[in-house]
Amino acid sequence: MTQQKPQRKEPASTGAILVINCGSSSVKFSLIKPLSGETLLSGLAECLHTPDAKIIVKLNGEKQTYKLPEPFNHQTALSVLVEQLQQLGLVKDITAIGHRVVHGGEQYSQPTLITEDVEQAISQLAKLAPLHNPANLIGIKACQQAFENLPQVAVFDTAFHQSMPEKAYIYGLPYSLYKAHGIRRYGFHGTSHYFVAKQAAEQLNKPLEQCNLISAHLGNGCSVTVIKNGESVDTSMGMTPGEGVIMGTRCGDLDTGIIFHLVENLGYSIGDVDKLVNKESGLLGVSGLSNDGRTLENAMLEDNHAQATLALTIFCYRIAKTIASYSASLTQLDGLIFTGGIGENSNWVRTEIVKQLALLNFSLDEEKNKATRFGASGNIATKDSRACWVIATNEEWVIAEQSAQLLTNLVK
Ligand code: AMP
Repeated sequence: MTQQKPQRKEPASTGAILVINCGSSSVKFSLIKPLSGETLLSGLAECLHTPDAKIIVKLNGEKQTYKLPEPFNHQTALSVLVEQLQQLGLVKDITAIGHRVVHGGEQYSQPTLITEDVEQAISQLAKLAPLHNPANLIGIKACQQAFENLPQVAVFDTAFHQSMPEKAYIYGLPYSLYKAHGIRRYGFHGTSHYFVAKQAAEQLNKPLEQCNLISAHLGNGCSVTVIKNGESVDTSMGMTPGEGVIMGTRCGDLDTGIIFHLVENLGYSIGDVDKLVNKESGLLGVSGLSNDGRTLENAMLEDNHAQATLALTIFCYRIAKTIASYSASLTQLDGLIFTGGIGENSNWVRTEIVKQLALLNFSLDEEKNKATRFGASGNIATKDSRACWVIATNEEWVIAEQSAQLLTNLVK
């Protein structure tokens, strides 16, 4: 696809990039210096389309919350954001908008300048990501109105996984479904896996292209990726984020026969099944208590809550099994990375996972494991173990960096 040259006065890398992550009822935003990763301002508009719609702006460690006026939509949220940026004198620093776009299909393996063609492609890809791509497009359109003269860049969550070989992405279904309808594994959280792999490469003091890593992004959504010579060669999420390990509310891998049983014998509609496997399962479904890792850990450790313990035990076992299975993709392994809200903060989850990986020669230094939480990063393995890092992810910085890089290359 051809890319038009953006109209801009100054190099994108010297200004700030406004990073936008639009959900169906929320907009997350960060204003970031692409070279240093410094965040000038960040925040979230949430509860859109309801009278509770509000915007929270974080600046210099302080949070301000504003109620949004009607209509309670994405455009209003962005107009209020623009007003705030204007009052703070920050609009003049913005050189481009970088959008997180969830599904880029097979077309997009690189950050891409948004043109009408690209918008159309994102819209067509909504059939593979019906919850995400339409919301991303709403954000793009609202930003085009709010920031008329600024270039907009799409950074795709699937892009990093486009290097997977066929053996990793073709399902055991008739091949014609892949050819005619794009039914294959795509993988998600690519921006996060790429960021933490790059950070691990720095720790190893080698170029990323020489690194072999497994990274576990464990948040409300969870995925594990195996990286060979700096490229993703397999990942646990599939055509949608529903595949793989169990997550906050998603069940992950499931015997397809269960779906027929639910529909044919237990009276579930397809909509009911969708809600069950995506919103009511995973940690929430098994524990019957919460999808929140912290709540479950407290219930397990303080109240001996049997189902919270079971949910977390299954969670860790499935992740350990997935990590171990990736030894089939590698001949060398430099180390394992934990990231995402649970991966960065829960020393209990890390211990439970790593103790099931002794065959791969992983063991944790418990002192370091306990000390490396709440934004701290570092190697928490014992001296005899392969490296095992906790790395705080920063997808927004990658989006800012890649947007600036693309624009710099386009004006060259
Ligand atoms: P994310 O989707 O990456 O923002 O991660 C959200 C998840 O991280 C939620 O399940 C949180 O409960 C979990 N989390 C955050 N802090 C902790 C913590 N200290 N211990 C356990 N889980 C945590």
